Amino acid sequence: MPIEIIRDNCEAPVTARVEQYTPRDGRAHGDLAGVLHVCEYHRADAAEGYSATYSTASADGARCGDGMRFA
Ligand SMILES: [Zn+2]
Repeated sequence: MPIEIIRDNCEAPVTARVEQYTPRDGRAHGDLAGVLHVCEYHRADAAEGYSATYSTASADGARCGDGMRFA
């Protein structure tokens, strides 16, 4: 799986793990396209370009910008 880094120099504490969805069959939560760990400041960036997002608590040790893209 490719790892996507959106902010490789962000040192702010991670506050959320954001699941990023694209639409399928008319549903906003159609396909899981990626997962991104973000700080509070970059949280809006994680939603950009996706039809829906779902946030959960971030994993220990994750850095802002750590993530995986599935599609
Ligand atoms: Zn950040």
